[in-house]
Amino acid sequence: MDEKKWMTEEDGVIKVRSCAWSAPGDHPTGCGVVLSVKDGKIVKVEGDPEHPISQGRLCPRCLAFDEMQYHPDRLLHPMKRDPKDRGKDAWEQITWEEAYDLIESEIRRVWDQYGPESCFVITGTGRETTLWANVYATNVMASPNRTGVISGASCYGPRCTIANYHLGAGYPELDYAAFFPDRYDDPRYEVPKYIMIWGKIPIYSNSDGLFGHAVVDLMKRGSKLIVVDPRVNWLSAHAEYFLQLRPGTDAALGMGFANVIIQEDLYDHEFVDEWCYGFKEFAECVSEWTPERVEEVTWVPADELRAAARAFATGKPSSAMWGLAFDMQSNGVQAGHLFLAIVAICGYLDIPGGVTLAAPASFMGKWRYDAVTSLPQETRDKLAKPQDGRYAVYYTGGAMPGVLGDTMIDWMEMENPPYPLKLGWIVGSNLLACSAAQPQRWLKNLQQVEFMIANEMFMTPTTMALADVILPISTWAEHIGIVMPHFGRNTHFLGAMNQAIDPGDTRSDFQIMMEMGKRLRPEVWPWETEEEFLDEQLHTVYDWDFKDLQQDVVRQQPFEYEKFRTGKLRADGEPGFDTPTGLVELKSSIYPMFGEEALPYFVEPYYSPYSESISDEVKAEYPLIMTSGGRNILYFHSEHRNAPSLRQLHPDPLVTIHPDTAAAYGISDGDWVAIENPEGRCVQRARVSYEVDPRVIHCEHAWWFPEQQGEAPNLYGPFKANPNNLVPHEIIGKSGYGANYKSVIAKISRVDGLDS
Ligand code: SF4
Repeated sequence: MDEKKWMTEEDGVIKVRSCAWSAPGDHPTGCGVVLSVKDGKIVKVEGDPEHPISQGRLCPRCLAFDEMQYHPDRLLHPMKRDPKDRGKDAWEQITWEEAYDLIESEIRRVWDQYGPESCFVITGTGRETTLWANVYATNVMASPNRTGVISGASCYGPRCTIANYHLGAGYPELDYAAFFPDRYDDPRYEVPKYIMIWGKIPIYSNSDGLFGHAVVDLMKRGSKLIVVDPRVNWLSAHAEYFLQLRPGTDAALGMGFANVIIQEDLYDHEFVDEWCYGFKEFAECVSEWTPERVEEVTWVPADELRAAARAFATGKPSSAMWGLAFDMQSNGVQAGHLFLAIVAICGYLDIPGGVTLAAPASFMGKWRYDAVTSLPQETRDKLAKPQDGRYAVYYTGGAMPGVLGDTMIDWMEMENPPYPLKLGWIVGSNLLACSAAQPQRWLKNLQQVEFMIANEMFMTPTTMALADVILPISTWAEHIGIVMPHFGRNTHFLGAMNQAIDPGDTRSDFQIMMEMGKRLRPEVWPWETEEEFLDEQLHTVYDWDFKDLQQDVVRQQPFEYEKFRTGKLRADGEPGFDTPTGLVELKSSIYPMFGEEALPYFVEPYYSPYSESISDEVKAEYPLIMTSGGRNILYFHSEHRNAPSLRQLHPDPLVTIHPDTAAAYGISDGDWVAIENPEGRCVQRARVSYEVDPRVIHCEHAWWFPEQQGEAPNLYGPFKANPNNLVPHEIIGKSGYGANYKSVIAKISRVDGLDS
């Protein structure tokens, strides 16, 4: 197989078919791209019409890929700096060999002086290295400690854990016929009557590997929308039902939604009787949540809730999607429990046009599991977890193991921690600008760490403030790899990242990990090349090689519906779901073992104007609710702020304010506005719009200013517009999951500029 079918040449221009992922950042959506390469340089980026999912469409981030690829500020060589010069532009270019030698000697020093558990990894989301983050910790540094920094592990992990516990399955996803070559025309497929989109805007974010424009495909084929969101967005503007709820009250809404379906006898009796556990108790639990009571808590009119619940339950088949908003609120675990219960009792699990469930095996799953278990139990037991046994759901059975950001920062601030954290490796995270709650607190604590390494494509606030060595990473056009939507938890296809151009002096996250792994833990790195590694991993599930995938560029996965009837959802091959009861657990048999309630409940968000945790005086001073994190199609979290064409379209951080509220505070569209609460303050430009309720404001997240001074104290300005300055590190859920990013108290005032 010497012919490379994915590469063609015409008039001196080589066209390379590939699937995009990272770097620069993105979720593993793997849209099909055709890169035109002339004289070793990319001259054009186009959508690949042959890609069965994206079918030639690309979002602005890929269309501006060449701006990132050839950006003058891109890091092109490894660099080091004396730790005493952190925050200064005092970098010295070094070779890869020198960088690897330095990192190896520092890790070995920390191993000898403090033990391997004193090393830790910080990861962000989406980027390819997210998949490897635990392995960076275990198989390179022999440490159990990986953290996403984010409070309450509130990114994907909660939803995955909830899906594991209640369904025994991976991530349930909208059925958009992604498994079938003929897609929507496949005779097995049915177009959903309704798609309920709850807490996400898939057309902007393509979250976790879902191709968001599939929703638009389905709208064109007749699907109607039910949108649950605090903000009006393009999808809600086209929805049949829009439930504009108060931020952080999703669990209360879920209670009422389920109650209407059960009280009006609209649920699927056959499915409930045969495949659900705990229906009676669940029905009793939600029965107190009448639509009128739900309206008081969520602000969603009772009749709109009733109408939406009726439409969803009776419009068979219907589908549903849940977003990051579930993870980022105080009792998101309960909201997620309710979301899955609603889908289940309507009989929409794993049916055509419903919600797809994945079979257990994914080709990378075993390796990642083996990586964790390759550490001696004694070392794994040293995970930096709370000493009092708190957050057992997360620490005992969570889907994405590691250290909660909240625990990590407490640990760093302890006078006498069980052991110190001395060496950190940041892979794919610009935490100071993006994920960290109380980011200046993180800066202060991480500055105390003896040695810090970062893999990055550009200098960021985080690398300028903290790194002692920077390893420049290659883009998705410069290395090989496999895109696996949903990180293997519901993977409708595998996509080849086909290398199109020379990486120069950059390396992929994986190459770096393997090189350092071979030096430090050679016993777990038997492979000579990336391709050899990928082949061996693929062979755990498939009888073909990476080269075969390269040739086809995309290989869709085999799929069948109603696997719960045929034993294909359970590891033991028996019909049912892979839970302790073998059924969908409407009442959890697992949570009580970890001190969590078996049935869902609603608690008021910790830092809301209705919370009992704050005094009446404070509530009176900060009467608004700030929510944050709504996605923008131009940027992937903190990335792309330096892509000129994208930044031109959206130059400033925007706070959305209702016109009545803006008028009350004397604010006009375009004014700079300070947003404050007792935790902190940020400044954004006013976007006056009816998109939000008058009592709510929405702040954009992850802003920094690559055009500003990089040296400390400015650090490209990551704290100026950062809504996380206002977000406390307080987990109130018993599980350990859930945070305050979606609902905190705030007040606003007009100021003169970003630096006011
Ligand atoms: S979602 Fe956008 S950035 Fe990601 S692969 Fe698709 S087109 Fe590229």
